[in-house]
Amino acid sequence: MANRIQETKEPAEVQEDSAILQATKGIDEKKRQALEVTEEARETEYTLPSFSGQLFVGNFKPELVFPFPVQDSEDKKIGDEYIAKLEKFLLENLDPENVDATREIPEQVIEGLAKLGAFAIKIPKEYGGLGFSQTNYNRICMKVASYCGATAVLLSAHQSIGVPQPLKMFGTEAQKRKWFPKFREGLISAFALTEPDVGSDPAQMKTEAKLSDDGQYYILNGEKLWCTNGTIADVIVVMAKTAPKIVHGKERKQISAFILEMDTPGVEVTHRCDFMGLKGIYNGMLKFTNVKIPKENLLAAEGRGLAMALATINVGRLTLPAACTGAAKQALKICRDWGKERVQWGMPVGEHEAGREKIAYIASTTFAMEAMTWLTSAWQDQAKVDIRIEAAMAKMFCTEELWKITDMTMQLRGGRGYETARSLKQRGEKGYPVERMMRDCRINMILEGSTEIMKLFLAREAMDPHLKRMGELLSSRVSFWGKIKSAFRSLGHYLVWYPAQFFKGWFAPGYSELGPLARHFRYVDVNSHKLSRYIFYYMGRYQQALEKRQLILGRLMEIGTQLFAMSAACAYANYLTRVNPDDKMPIELADYFCKQAELKIGKLYDELTINNDRLTNTVAKDVLADKALWLEDGVMPL
Ligand SMILES: Cc1cc2nc3c(=O)[nH]c(=O)nc-3n(C[C@H](O)[C@H](O)[C@H](O)COP(=O)(O)OP(=O)(O)OC[C@H]3O[C@@H](n4cnc5c(N)ncnc54)[C@H](O)[C@@H]3O)c2cc1C
Repeated sequence: MANRIQETKEPAEVQEDSAILQATKGIDEKKRQALEVTEEARETEYTLPSFSGQLFVGNFKPELVFPFPVQDSEDKKIGDEYIAKLEKFLLENLDPENVDATREIPEQVIEGLAKLGAFAIKIPKEYGGLGFSQTNYNRICMKVASYCGATAVLLSAHQSIGVPQPLKMFGTEAQKRKWFPKFREGLISAFALTEPDVGSDPAQMKTEAKLSDDGQYYILNGEKLWCTNGTIADVIVVMAKTAPKIVHGKERKQISAFILEMDTPGVEVTHRCDFMGLKGIYNGMLKFTNVKIPKENLLAAEGRGLAMALATINVGRLTLPAACTGAAKQALKICRDWGKERVQWGMPVGEHEAGREKIAYIASTTFAMEAMTWLTSAWQDQAKVDIRIEAAMAKMFCTEELWKITDMTMQLRGGRGYETARSLKQRGEKGYPVERMMRDCRINMILEGSTEIMKLFLAREAMDPHLKRMGELLSSRVSFWGKIKSAFRSLGHYLVWYPAQFFKGWFAPGYSELGPLARHFRYVDVNSHKLSRYIFYYMGRYQQALEKRQLILGRLMEIGTQLFAMSAACAYANYLTRVNPDDKMPIELADYFCKQAELKIGKLYDELTINNDRLTNTVAKDVLADKALWLEDGVMPL
């Protein structure tokens, strides 16, 4: 049985060559493998409506964001009570500066968190967990991240990607009964996918799990890198390749996921990694030597590990926007205080126009981040909208924006921004931790899907409706006459659809229910048609080669993301104004955010045609071909 290679009967959707796999013909073998593996793991169907998925095909669906879906009062009360307890506990027991300096979260803090049920927040009540909603979980993550990044990561690596989430989504009843109650007692988990050669591309996975001869357990060998919580975890989800299957006469890599108890013989933590920031995270390298994993610890089915990981991360990704929003709110507070307090050249630094620009940017962007966070959280709780595209957009937007916000905050704080909170306090000043915040937040743009990978993910989803429609045209398995029929069908569709994208914008409704923000909703509506035309145009223009035009794709996806952020901000402002009609700030912030976003979108459209992409490619190729080595002269060897 070990090492078996199966010529498997394929599920229908795999058997049908998808257009994207056709598009990989003739490309480098490793790249083909990478595309095949991720494509097979991709969730292909949308059973619920997708707001941005529709935006990409020129179908603005305001009813999904407006009225803004809000947390019900009962759920909010549960969250409020818990957060109050947690905040008190953290203030009394946890010093984030100390965590940063010592690289340790004190034992009693971890124990205290466990007593509060903080490792079982999302675990259903029937299994002994707190059973909180995604909104309350994200509110908790926002609160903790605004105080101590490392502690927020401890909770979220365990709960957003560690064992609880995949178990909730894919576990068997027996697995749930076995593990869930233990998390209420404080069991900590982690998620191990990355390897030295496996970062964004899981197809290169080397860690291997072979089924034993008696079929009772898997034997795991390999190495995992950067496993957060890995050095203290009791149990982890580990991805490993299992026996490949043969598809069309070729081996296709299979990745499976397992629950692994860390005290199993053969598991070693070989190194605790130390990073630029998040000094207190327990992140390590793990080594597995002939580790026996009982076969009942397999999660989902054999070969579905990556699909499971991607589906887990789709939900897990909702936490980062919440955490980033927490940090952005702290930056706003710091800039507001310092902007008034620090006087230079006869004026508070926040009153100089350059200071005002930063403060306006930070406040309006934080507002949009919050809007996206609560919107996606509510969507997840209400289970009426597919969140996979918006979770990726929110992750990309919030992590990128937090970096800009932190940078602006450091600039406004001047030299004090660069000084550690500890040093500031030692000489009697307020210990604003801007330096630590900056170190802590940089990684967010890299992990759980880097910005570049998010753009590729979004582009794949944006093109999916067209690829599905044109799949038959590209498939080698469809007969000539089948292709002719399909060509006419597609042609018929696009002859109506494409011109409609020109006209529909002219007839976009007024959205008067949005009051002063109506014009922004109209802008999103009009631009959903424009964006859909551009996506279709570039698909037609570059065809298979579009996959390589990452700069074009990136701009299109950034436009889509800005449109989503605008929609969320306007709907959120409208909701806040209804709750408190005297407060004019939500409208002001949303209006400013949208006007700034419109400028960015305009620039992105311009750069689709007026750009230096060709030269960018040439310069980079030449540098990588070592043609500018002389430029590196005059420095010490690394
Ligand atoms: C602090 C920390 C915590 C982590 N926690 C975990 C964890 O708990 N579990 C876990 O499994 N992993 C974890 N990771 C790993 C993290 O998820 C990876 O760092 C991330 O997936 C990127 O992989 P990489 O660093 O190998 O970069 P690479 O994949 O090598 O990428 C390098 C650069 O190239 C870009 N790039 C890669 N492919 C493409 C492409 N096709 N097109 C354009 N650009 C591309 C990337 O965006 C990036 O900018 C952690 C990492 C860190 C630093």
